[in-house]
Amino acid sequence: MKKPDVDRPSTWKQYRSGMCNGCYSGCCTMPVEIKLSDLIRLGLTDEDEAAGSVKKLAKRLSKEGIIQSYRQGTEFFMLTQKSNSDCLFLDSVTRLCTVYEKRPDTCRQFPSIGPRPGFCPGASAK
Ligand code: SF4
Repeated sequence: MKKPDVDRPSTWKQYRSGMCNGCYSGCCTMPVEIKLSDLIRLGLTDEDEAAGSVKKLAKRLSKEGIIQSYRQGTEFFMLTQKSNSDCLFLDSVTRLCTVYEKRPDTCRQFPSIGPRPGFCPGASAK
């Protein structure tokens, strides 16, 4: 599979239905910010813990390698990326999301939202 140039949105392709089939999943190599509600849906925390100290929760998730940062002002958690930039939930062989049914809202909304709305980093499988 040819790796798309994720860092250059000007090279991205206009999204069309079916483009994701056989794609390298370049979108899953970009930083993903998620909310508390996403963490609950993913089963990474529960309502009780979420109602307590979010800072404490962020500390635990960071220690467990699930998030790489937390921004208190916006209450956004940054999902951990592997050394090759893959999302921690991306299967490196199939290039498919391993938590697809529970994936964060940011992922559900892409490419309607993102650096270049309506466009994605590439669909080349060759
Ligand atoms: S959670 Fe799933 S859809 Fe979202 S970036 Fe990670 S692998 Fe991709």
